[in-house]
Amino acid sequence: MLNPKNMKKPLLFTPGPTPLPPETSLAMAQPIDYHRSPAAAALIQDVLEKLKHVFQTENDVLCLTTSGTGAMEGAVANLLCRGDKVLVIRSGKFGERWSDICTAYGVEVIPIHVTWGESVEPSVVASHLTAYPEVKAVFATLCETSTGALHDIEALAQLTQVRPTLLVVDAVSALGADDLQMDTWGVDAVVSCSQKGLMTPPGIAFASLNARAWEAVARADLPKYYLDFRKARDAGSEGSTPYTPAITLIHALQASLNLLCAEGIRNTIARHARLAQATRSAIAALGLQPFATRPANTLTSIRLPAEVDGKAFIALMREKHGITYAGGQSQLRGKIARIAHLGWINENDVIVAIAAFERGLVEVGCKLPLGAGVAAAQEVLSR
Ligand code: PMP
Repeated sequence: MLNPKNMKKPLLFTPGPTPLPPETSLAMAQPIDYHRSPAAAALIQDVLEKLKHVFQTENDVLCLTTSGTGAMEGAVANLLCRGDKVLVIRSGKFGERWSDICTAYGVEVIPIHVTWGESVEPSVVASHLTAYPEVKAVFATLCETSTGALHDIEALAQLTQVRPTLLVVDAVSALGADDLQMDTWGVDAVVSCSQKGLMTPPGIAFASLNARAWEAVARADLPKYYLDFRKARDAGSEGSTPYTPAITLIHALQASLNLLCAEGIRNTIARHARLAQATRSAIAALGLQPFATRPANTLTSIRLPAEVDGKAFIALMREKHGITYAGGQSQLRGKIARIAHLGWINENDVIVAIAAFERGLVEVGCKLPLGAGVAAAQEVLSR
């Protein structure tokens, strides 16, 4: 008898790492390049140019061999001075990470606490900027991946642009899924990494700084060596990197960037918006609540019914069905599920993610109208 468990097909609906397009996987199978060769220089130059399209900027984009947190740490170390004060929007695990990094570097953090699941009110940031005019920078997160909440970066940039204060944005999970018009909005520094919207394995990260931010770099005196952005910029301008780059991943990134540039960043964001809308509509049809009040395109976080053991549900889906959703982190452990519709994901994938989600919930004892989520998603996607 055919046992469906024998033919487990792993499917990833996590907010990083995200699935890889076949072109991307294949790009990593070619013979390894010497990273100081003309071929590697051409590759690096091509990738740095294409990243500008995704960052929606004319500024240089730096390529660093580290995960996203390394680019965050680099931003702190390169932009600030000893004794600086900064505002940090803390609305989840990754806002907390900005605080932790700043504190580790001896920077004084003035936190703006936001209830998990909510997005910061720009007026609250405005009143903090008035109360603390000396702050050097505001550290924000485009999509707070731990809750699924989107922050209004455009509104925050309107506040910082007219002041000497820099706006530094963690777009680690949301770059390429939620809109971030770095130049048009006037965002001073943006960091991201490879394993999310950029459809590449983990291991490389990016930072882009505008002219104001580079002026701050010239004044900054926090210690740094490996993550010195000036070295990365100077090397990058010659199609190089200061140290041995993860060249195999850069080949992979080139293949993914070719796909993203062919789709066009505006269309990529529109695709993510549509997939997110279908997922939210499905969740509502199942009688479930989204966790975020202003949900991102990157992922949808869902409050699980009180009777569901969230950790067991996520494990069941992974072990029995080969489907990986993300669970809740920290205080949300076991309480929410997070379905990412991020990167190399299309409408059919989302239908599968929802169909499996509702069936899994029924398997753990929820009384749900089986199929209602899929029908609602189909309705959105057929418009
Ligand atoms: N910021 C955000 C918003 C993230 O989603 C993540 C990864 N989940 C990070 C930072 C940290 O990135 P990494 O794990 O690649 O260091």
